Amino acid sequence: MASPDSRKLALNTATTRAKWGLAQAIEGCARHGIRGIAPWRDQLHAMGVAKAARAIRDHGLTVTGLCRGGMFPATTARGRRRAIEDNRRAIDEAHALGARCLVLVVGGLPRGARDIGGARAQVKDGIAAILPHARAAGVPLAIEPLHPMYAADRACVNTLAQALELCDALAPERTGDRSTNARGALGVAVDVYHVWWDPQLREQIRRAGKKRLLAFHICDWLVPTTDLLLDRGMMGDGVIDVRRIRGWVEAAGYRGFHEVEIFSARNWWRRDPDEVLRTCKRRHRLYC
Ligand code: ZN
Repeated sequence: MASPDSRKLALNTATTRAKWGLAQAIEGCARHGIRGIAPWRDQLHAMGVAKAARAIRDHGLTVTGLCRGGMFPATTARGRRRAIEDNRRAIDEAHALGARCLVLVVGGLPRGARDIGGARAQVKDGIAAILPHARAAGVPLAIEPLHPMYAADRACVNTLAQALELCDALAPERTGDRSTNARGALGVAVDVYHVWWDPQLREQIRRAGKKRLLAFHICDWLVPTTDLLLDRGMMGDGVIDVRRIRGWVEAAGYRGFHEVEIFSARNWWRRDPDEVLRTCKRRHRLYC
């Protein structure tokens, strides 16, 4: 398979967050010719939404996604309501940025709970509650299934099939429906780190199709992995066949960005972010 279009490379600012705030990441992307950016809300709030939106627009960048909404399950009804209110604010911020989607990391078990089925039901209710607001704002919601090792504390949606079940239940739009936008109101973010191991991956990507494929996140799985959260690898340093998976999402109709998202406390976060961005560009060309 051919090398990817270099114009499709995007930076998820988690990759540079140890050394760069959002303003620096925006300027860094512009300097390195990276045309897409996915900010995190804490950095967005630190910079200010209006100021960030202006800087992103002035540099001609596309916001490939806002990270993140979700975290729906809570012990009390009040806690669940607060999560929904926060998600509505996140939708408004994504709208202000012109983001292609709001990424949902749906949340794990409420504190002290053992009922993962109950947590999953709360996730479904939470997404149902915010979907009308997202539709009104024109912000697609991208459910990101996370690797099962995060089921307790980050996301109890763990496979693409499970995420697509939610999409089909809550927003049953058909690909043949030409009256709606090219992107559906509810879809998925495919992050190779979370789904590379899934024997159904190819089939589920095909099932998702153009409407449901809202974001594509890339990095690599290191062997051994020394930290469950903060030891992601740069593309080419691990065992994920990123290029093959990119081929599957593109065959399914995805035309969006390839967003590098690397949490790496022991390696990439310690390096000069300009070096990290240069490496991202090279590895994208070679391995994605
Ligand atoms: Zn991701």
